[in-house]
Amino acid sequence: MTKQFLQKLCCPFDKAELNIQVFSEKDNGNIYEGLLTCSHCKRQYPIIFGVPVMAPDEYRESQTELPFYQKWQHQFPEETRKILLPE
Ligand SMILES: [Zn+2]
Repeated sequence: MTKQFLQKLCCPFDKAELNIQVFSEKDNGNIYEGLLTCSHCKRQYPIIFGVPVMAPDEYRESQTELPFYQKWQHQFPEETRKILLPE
């Protein structure tokens, strides 16, 4: 996913701006893995293999997303970590 494309994205629920954290990039500077966080509702959308996962809540698959969260959990703010990976 290119950074230019990213700037056109907004939260599908409330159309608010998304903040991005980039975890890894490809050689050409495109985002490969990262996390989008809505500035309003605080929903989080992972970018996995260059694709932003922006499905509605009921269609999100923890099976797909969990390995991603486990890999990058040390990058997340503490309160997010508790929500995603309860002990
Ligand atoms: Zn939102």
